[in-house]
Amino acid sequence: MSRINVMQPWLGQAEIDAVAEVISSGWVAQGPRVAQFEREFAQSQQVAHAVAVSSCTTALQLALVVAGVSAGDDVVVPSFSFIATANAPVYVGARPVFADVDPLTGNLSAETLLAALTPATTAVIAVDQGGVPVDLDAIRAVTDPLGIVVIEDAACGVGSVYRGRPVGAGADLTAWSFHPRKILTTGEGGMLTSPHQELADRARRLREHAMSVSAADRHANTLAPAEEYTEVGYNFRMTDLQAAVGIVQLERLPVVVERRREIAAVYSAAIASIPGLRAVADPEWGTSNFQSFWVEVGYPYPLDRDELLTALANADISARRGIMASHRQPAYRDRSTGEASLAVTDQLTDSTLILPIYHELTGDDQDRVIRVLRFGAGLS
Ligand SMILES: *Cc1c(COP(=O)(O)O)cnc(C)c1O
Repeated sequence: MSRINVMQPWLGQAEIDAVAEVISSGWVAQGPRVAQFEREFAQSQQVAHAVAVSSCTTALQLALVVAGVSAGDDVVVPSFSFIATANAPVYVGARPVFADVDPLTGNLSAETLLAALTPATTAVIAVDQGGVPVDLDAIRAVTDPLGIVVIEDAACGVGSVYRGRPVGAGADLTAWSFHPRKILTTGEGGMLTSPHQELADRARRLREHAMSVSAADRHANTLAPAEEYTEVGYNFRMTDLQAAVGIVQLERLPVVVERRREIAAVYSAAIASIPGLRAVADPEWGTSNFQSFWVEVGYPYPLDRDELLTALANADISARRGIMASHRQPAYRDRSTGEASLAVTDQLTDSTLILPIYHELTGDDQDRVIRVLRFGAGLS
């Protein structure tokens, strides 16, 4: 029996060829491939502007900067997320204020957002956790009358759909991740998308030291125009090596999402007949890419979450604890992060686990996982 991993990127000869071509071209930093990846990503996500960056973390930071969030501001974020969601406001001197999540989706809702709002709130980061689309219209019904900026953390959301459109299309700014743990990977990498031209233009400059002329444009001219640095910027650039991989991965995305949804449907059907287990599911307003397939373990399932993880590990199946709670981490334990109850976050973090799901997971492998879940419940 071979080990079943929780996640495996799907990379092949097309990616190898694409990278080889970039190396042969002699231009490996941000250049024509990044520009092409941005165009194709914007088109596929049905959003006007896309700015490639080095990670989703830097995309979130840049989003806050161009949204004008700064010292003294509060930014509402779910604690139930990878730590980068909470860290981004800190980078711009703002305070992350933790909100709880809806127990069914693991995402912010109008209620949990309202419970966390403070008079100093200028932005909200709404996450499509594990790929489940957040109900953005419900969030905007709260934020729009108050002039609060909505940033979507779609790190996990590429290929998920919200009310008939790709997730992220309805936010002021959306941040994406291409880390190998996500379903479209460039090794490391991220994207910032926005329908707003001015925000995207400023982000495009800021990611490259706020240079008035890009390095690629200077290279295109033998006598390079003099550049100016219009404000204090960053080096958040993606390379053409990464973008070439991203272009190939983007083409594959529909096939990848379809396969993940097939795997999720098989898990869901099996779990529906195991008392005490509850699987993540599509919400009424959209479809998930099932970037993470999480399961809540509760009464009357005979094992607790950690015991089930051990049972899976004993069968050489690498499952994982569910999504983390940022407020419990040492980095945030002693900081002021608001007053909202985080009871659902605590509950989900303690009782969920993530099952293996990746493009090349075979039916036999999946049967092995399901057998362990059933065996744990005393079923054959
Ligand atoms: C993975 C992840 C990030 C960070 O993405 P990087 O590209 O690794 O910076 C941010 N937010 C969420 C919700 C994530 O899952």
